[in-house]
Amino acid sequence: MILVLGGTGEARELAARLADLALPFESSLAGRVLSPKLPIGEVRIGGFGGVEGLVAFLRDREVSAVVDATHPFALNISANAAAACSEAGVPLLRLARPGWGGDANAARWHWVEGHDEAGRLAASLGSRVLLTTGRQHLADFVSPLGDSHVWARVVDPVDIALPSPWTVLQQRGPFDLESERALMSELGIEVLVTKDSGGDLTRAKLDAAAELGVPIVVVRRPDPEPGATVVETVAAALDWVVAS
Ligand code: NAP
Repeated sequence: MILVLGGTGEARELAARLADLALPFESSLAGRVLSPKLPIGEVRIGGFGGVEGLVAFLRDREVSAVVDATHPFALNISANAAAACSEAGVPLLRLARPGWGGDANAARWHWVEGHDEAGRLAASLGSRVLLTTGRQHLADFVSPLGDSHVWARVVDPVDIALPSPWTVLQQRGPFDLESERALMSELGIEVLVTKDSGGDLTRAKLDAAAELGVPIVVVRRPDPEPGATVVETVAAALDWVVAS
């Protein structure tokens, strides 16, 4: 059985391709999102209980290969998958869509190493901020952007106290260029903060900001696990699964 660690569009696409080929697989979701988009086929939801739990799962379910198709910023599960697969002797592939670094305008963006730095830099660039790094990192921005007008875009309700000038935009992508342009213009956005998620579903904000002359702060991706075999496309992941 192939285990697909998911929570991304690529993981759902891979599940659909594996189903087409009638290969045995199961997808796994963290269970963080209230109403997740579910992949085709069998799905389990919830953490494994760290490396130990994942090793037990791999052994109990006789998993023959793992594709880690989690989000490029999902650091813990990727590290756990690397450790667990190594311990259980199960081949592991990292499927991570390309980042936005190849974009024609990327050299003009403000690239930073972490969310803390992104907050400090954004505060120095403007006081009306569109923050699109997701719910989990909101706390990192509270101190540097506490006095700024921040519109924090998230999929699920926020569970921490936010500064009074902040507004939560609870929305799920995809977002198109027209709506992103309208949003940034109407709110008078002066800085866009994002992380280098890559993909097309949320990239229109980058084009809208470029058009409007809004500076963009981008949190760089973490490196993949040392020694990981990494592919960028579902097609390449499928080839690996078939060959493994
Ligand atoms: P994370 O910090 O790497 O993982 C935290 C814990 O959640 C893991 O230790 C694991 O718990 C559990 N977990 C994460 N992904 C799992 C999966 N696919 N199946 C089973 N358990 C999983 O992850 P995260 O950044 O919170 O992301 C959670 C999920 O949301 C991921 O599946 C990711 O693909 C998706 N997602 C993340 C982002 C993002 O920006 N981080 C964006 C879009 C989607 P145990 O240790 O108990 O096994």
